[in-house]
Amino acid sequence: MERKKPKKPRGVARYIEGKCIACGARCQSACPVDAIEMNNRDEPVILLAKCIGCQKCLKVCPAGALEMYYTPDEQKILAEYNRAQAGIEAPASAPTAAEWKGVWIFVEQTNGTAHPVSWELLGAGRALARDLGVELAAFILGSGIQHLIPEAFGYGADKVYVIDNAVLKHYRTYPYLEASLQLIRKYKPEIVLMGATGQGRDLAGAVATELRTGLTADCTGLSISQADRLLEQTRPAFGGNIMATILTETHRPQMASVRPHVMPKPDFQSGRQGSVILEEFSLPEDQITTKILEVIPLRSESTVNLAAARVIVSGGRGMMGPENFALLRELADLLGGVIGCSRSAVDAGWLPHAHQVGQTGKTVKPKLYIACGISGAIQHLVGMQNSDYIIAINKDKNAPIFSVAHLGIVGDLFEILPALIAELQNHYAQLEEKSLAVI
Ligand SMILES: Cc1cc2nc3c(=O)[nH]c(=O)nc-3n(C[C@H](O)[C@H](O)[C@H](O)COP(=O)(O)OP(=O)(O)OC[C@H]3O[C@@H](n4cnc5c(N)ncnc54)[C@H](O)[C@@H]3O)c2cc1C
Repeated sequence: MERKKPKKPRGVARYIEGKCIACGARCQSACPVDAIEMNNRDEPVILLAKCIGCQKCLKVCPAGALEMYYTPDEQKILAEYNRAQAGIEAPASAPTAAEWKGVWIFVEQTNGTAHPVSWELLGAGRALARDLGVELAAFILGSGIQHLIPEAFGYGADKVYVIDNAVLKHYRTYPYLEASLQLIRKYKPEIVLMGATGQGRDLAGAVATELRTGLTADCTGLSISQADRLLEQTRPAFGGNIMATILTETHRPQMASVRPHVMPKPDFQSGRQGSVILEEFSLPEDQITTKILEVIPLRSESTVNLAAARVIVSGGRGMMGPENFALLRELADLLGGVIGCSRSAVDAGWLPHAHQVGQTGKTVKPKLYIACGISGAIQHLVGMQNSDYIIAINKDKNAPIFSVAHLGIVGDLFEILPALIAELQNHYAQLEEKSLAVI
């Protein structure tokens, strides 16, 4: 039977707040059905009941201040329409939602120690599973890794799938891919989440490619669309200038990766139990071309561990030169913290990349983050905005860093930092005096 071609939905025009340049109501004049009124700021107000979606107002607007709005149902029809226009067939094997059920988290481990991002993902997965009314499962691959099962239950898994096999002792793409595919093809989870770590990025890409499904990397938000039960995968796009919400509408599973420290780690519930599925897996070693001869721990250019730091004192271009980072070092030492920086500081060669915070650096969540001379570009903010307490020092009162700061100090960092350091030294000296007096 021939499929009926979708009809393009009309939608309605919508004003993009703050973009109108008060050009003289060109949009109102262009509207053939009087669906636009101007408010007292000379901005358009669209009368939705009248708008026929002809887009004439969009075409005459010199500031691009109007856009088309489509309801979620209309968006689906529009996507189908655009596909039909482009001659792209809807996938023949589009899965039915009923076939694929459950939210799965990949528990990444190295030498039997789980990466904390796995537990953070179980926390995020719990909310998704609750909204979908389905089970939350963890899947663990490795050799001698069954001690991780109670940990997975404690962090929220209802069920744990395990493949415990010697070929999975060290991470290698091929055996981990085969083991993941075996589980996913057999049990058909609708959502699979992995950490955006070196291992997770490698495995998620390979699995998604083999299953011919979508994968959204480095998500900063995950939620369920109430209308159609789809996973809404939000992440920065176009160099971080917009936040895009991505859907995997027609393929399963819906796959996403999330960086460490982006989602909060749930509380551990000791003694919590669930069901365990121990899966047989057979892949002879001689069929795996990658051999691990020796594991040599990475000696990074710097030993800084930003991810685990409780206090980070970060500097940006406003530090003016590498020598001034001594100020940050002094403050960090007093607070028991480490030094971070913006990409500008790395690009200028002031600090190694291991110190960089942000989209292409580390995502951090310390108790205290002090940003000095950092403007707060979105690419920096995505890496530190979940810190428990943020202090920003910047001489520009309009710097975007202040939008995420709990305490903003407008002023010259070369005056503020020495004063802060002196105050802290004074404070510690007084504490020491008091404790000596007690002795
Ligand atoms: C794809 C992509 C990925 C990126 N990834 C990252 C990333 O991971 N991390 C990252 O940080 N950036 C990243 N960037 C770069 C980002 O867009 C910004 O360019 C960068 O964060 C700016 O660094 P900055 O704040 O140090 O410098 P600037 O934006 O130049 O800001 C310097 C600030 O210092 C202040 N200042 C100057 N002198 C003083 C003073 N004496 N006292 C107080 N304040 C002072 C100024 O007012 C200004 O706000 C990325 C960009 C792209 C396109």
